[in-house]
Amino acid sequence: MKIAVVGAGYVGLVSGACFAEFGFEVVCVDKDPEKIRRLRLGEIPIHEPGLDTLAAASQRAGRLTFSDDLAAGVRGAQVGLIAVGTPTRRGEDAADLAFVMEAARQIALAMDGFTVVVTKSTVPVGTARMLAALIRETRPDADFEVAANPEFLREGSAVEDFLRPDRVVVGVDSPRARERMERLYRPLMVRDVPVLFTGFETAEIIKYAANAFLATRIGFINEIADICEEVGADIAAVTRGMGLDRRIGQHYLQPGPGFGGSCFPKDTRALVSISREAGVPSRIVESVVAANEARKERLVDRVTAAVGDQLSGLRIGVLGVAFKADTDDMREAAALSLVPALQARGAVVQAYDPVAMKAAAALLPGVVWCTDAYEAVAGAEAAVVLTEWNEFRGLDLRRLAAAMRRPVMIDFRNIYSPADIERTPFVYHSVGRPRHCGAIPADELASPRRARTLT
Ligand code: NAD
Repeated sequence: MKIAVVGAGYVGLVSGACFAEFGFEVVCVDKDPEKIRRLRLGEIPIHEPGLDTLAAASQRAGRLTFSDDLAAGVRGAQVGLIAVGTPTRRGEDAADLAFVMEAARQIALAMDGFTVVVTKSTVPVGTARMLAALIRETRPDADFEVAANPEFLREGSAVEDFLRPDRVVVGVDSPRARERMERLYRPLMVRDVPVLFTGFETAEIIKYAANAFLATRIGFINEIADICEEVGADIAAVTRGMGLDRRIGQHYLQPGPGFGGSCFPKDTRALVSISREAGVPSRIVESVVAANEARKERLVDRVTAAVGDQLSGLRIGVLGVAFKADTDDMREAAALSLVPALQARGAVVQAYDPVAMKAAAALLPGVVWCTDAYEAVAGAEAAVVLTEWNEFRGLDLRRLAAAMRRPVMIDFRNIYSPADIERTPFVYHSVGRPRHCGAIPADELASPRRARTLT
């Protein structure tokens, strides 16, 4: 069976490489010719662990090819999989379907023989039906069905998530579409992966409900972390105490700088829009969106408070700018809120990220990009941990402190424990734990001069 994947981004590339790994003939199509040129040379344009090896094997075997010619890619395909972006519409909460509609229209013009057009992109309720009408209008003679097949992979573990998913959700409207989608997912079904067949609307809502629920957990635990700080409780013990309850579980209970990435912020906003349009406004999701935005805006106040009254002329070292570890994705990253706010208050920002600096450079002008964490904090008044990269967990904290003008750390990811900080000169601020852990007595923190002499 031949599959044409339209959109060779995080989802399209991973889906394409994994379907090729299952033995299907896959062509990944993208409108960006430079991306296709690099892919043909065996270069993977995104950072996604394991994707390069997987793609290379299928590319060598001739099962995975790349094209910027959509019509040629779709010709002869039994499945046309749409994996293009669905960003938030400018100035609104709703998802922008322009890329999806354009991809569907182009597939419609090119398809020959019975084709199932599949939405893998995250799309609002009603999209599958709308696309069916669009395709029918574009190609009245076409033999096709539509399927809604939302993707649940996480960046950073996308290949693993795709090959071993908790479940696959497929919305269909006809036995023919179901049969073809069963063929597509047979390699997972034989491994006992639950494949849930539903109607279009149900499949579309499952994706938004799942993402909004996970975002709500993060928003909720961030709020509990704020309370912990004020009352002297420890969020790590609180989440463990909560998470051991099997009704709750441990996942998505890490407090931090506010959720970012290509999905949670836009999908929660899109669900708010869907619920409003349906006449049943979602108060909970609206609050999650607002609380998360406010949290990101307040990050700069936390840094300012940790350093002193004002930031003008001070150097701040930022460790990590990607929205989370193991990805180079900068979409809605906390760094995009914090770094410009630090600069607006007059700080000079020096930053290091193991893989995202290239993607971040255009988005964060004026940043001094560094070759490692030690260089990023050199001469700085504070080290700010924004991304939980593993390589930051093993830093030599004494060396890090020695490189700084003042050993102040604001750890927005809680990658260190108070025990790690003990016997280092750091004045340590983390999330949801008692303030000012570290070797220096709290009353001495008030004196910047005293703190400076420690370097
Ligand atoms: P992306 O921006 O990384 O990739 C989209 C690609 O589509 C781009 O390379 C773009 O050039 C290409 N494109 C757009 N229009 C095209 C057209 N007409 N023809 C050919 N190529 C076209 O996006 P992504 O992160 O892969 O997300 C894609 C969809 O999957 C979104 O709806 C997203 O919400 C959803 N999703 C993303 C993730 C994730 O972790 N990134 C997880 C699950 C679901």
